[in-house]
Amino acid sequence: MRFTEFNFHPTLLEGIEASNYENATPVQEQVIPPILAGKDIIASAQTGTGKTAAFLLPMMNRLLTDHADEGMIRAMIIVPTRELAIQIAQHIEGLSYFTNISSIPVYGGSDAQSFVAEKKAFQSGVDIVVCTPGRMIAHLNMGYVNLKGLKFLVLDEADRMLDMGFQEDINKIIQHLPAKRQNLLFSATMPEKIRQLARRILHEPVEVNIAISRPPDKIRQGAYVVYEPQKNPLIAHLLKTTPYKNALIFCSRKHTVKQLTRDLKKLKFNVEEIHSDLEQADRENVLSAFAGGRIPLLVATDILSRGIDIDTIDLVINYDVPDDGEDYVHRIGRTARAEATGSAFTLVSEMDQRKFSAIERLIQKEVEKMKVPEELGEVPKYEPMERKARKPGGNRRNFTPRRRG
Ligand code: AMP
Repeated sequence: MRFTEFNFHPTLLEGIEASNYENATPVQEQVIPPILAGKDIIASAQTGTGKTAAFLLPMMNRLLTDHADEGMIRAMIIVPTRELAIQIAQHIEGLSYFTNISSIPVYGGSDAQSFVAEKKAFQSGVDIVVCTPGRMIAHLNMGYVNLKGLKFLVLDEADRMLDMGFQEDINKIIQHLPAKRQNLLFSATMPEKIRQLARRILHEPVEVNIAISRPPDKIRQGAYVVYEPQKNPLIAHLLKTTPYKNALIFCSRKHTVKQLTRDLKKLKFNVEEIHSDLEQADRENVLSAFAGGRIPLLVATDILSRGIDIDTIDLVINYDVPDDGEDYVHRIGRTARAEATGSAFTLVSEMDQRKFSAIERLIQKEVEKMKVPEELGEVPKYEPMERKARKPGGNRRNFTPRRRG
């Protein structure tokens, strides 16, 4: 379906054209008409499906055509991470370029100046707020945020927000909102706790299911079955022998990210690291250097497994197997964005074999087991059913559940 068929406001259509979107993606096709009709939505859709524009476009169209409460905050998008807040704000900027819609990302951890700038925006009026829960509550507690004109509430990556312990914060924010509003909930997965949240917040929602727990076929997947000490030499070998523009290496733990980055720097790779210990400004600098091609190689925790959208990532390496199959799909989905192709290699140690075979079941695909270079020595056999899984907690995520945005 072409965007011209949605009857969007001409200035919004201009932004869509300037973004080079022609046809709506499946989630956009299913979600845009009911949102335009004023319905609540619960949608399971992952990053990469075009879900952001799916809620932004109809929402912005309504803000352009319905002038009630203009000058007040009319839409709030709550997201789990700063990175996603910034990315969505940029998306809004692009799509609303030819309109008079204003927006601001509001996220924690930055300096006092940005808090003051956010406060000013709240006081002088802004159409769309894209916020992490903790920071939004900090502003709400100061008493100057007027949400009486709010028409839209969007919860994006709702499953991630609940995983990160934001349930209570979300409840608090909702208490400040007018009861009559349109609610849009997007989540990559639909566990029962999301359904419960939906029952409390949404009003007769239209349900849309676009979740693909399977990576696109254009990503070439491979697994290297190795002993733990063979991982670093293998990574160095892969980086030297695989041509890439931008490569991203995921590790489940911050400690591993730091250690591997140190080791790769010693080997003279142009590499940086990204994880939750870094200051926000440093994270942004690293990300923009990576996106701009000045740093071709990045080692990251799962903080980057969702949301980051850089078209030139053509190689993803999983230093270890993520605990959650969905995280695997998200990690490797960082490559082969847009029309490009990409490779995703996973290093599978003995302790991770069972976990990896569970992922193969989830994605309904046996991942090709690649030949490990002979100079690295003997490697273990891939026999997941014979191996014990890694102990729970032994491969913990880097997000501490109570961390605030
Ligand atoms: P998302 O799933 O929202 O993270 O979007 C993934 C990528 O697809 C982003 O780079 C969007 O700019 C892009 N995108 C979204 N909708 C379309 C569309 N209809 N046509 C082409 N690209 C799109």
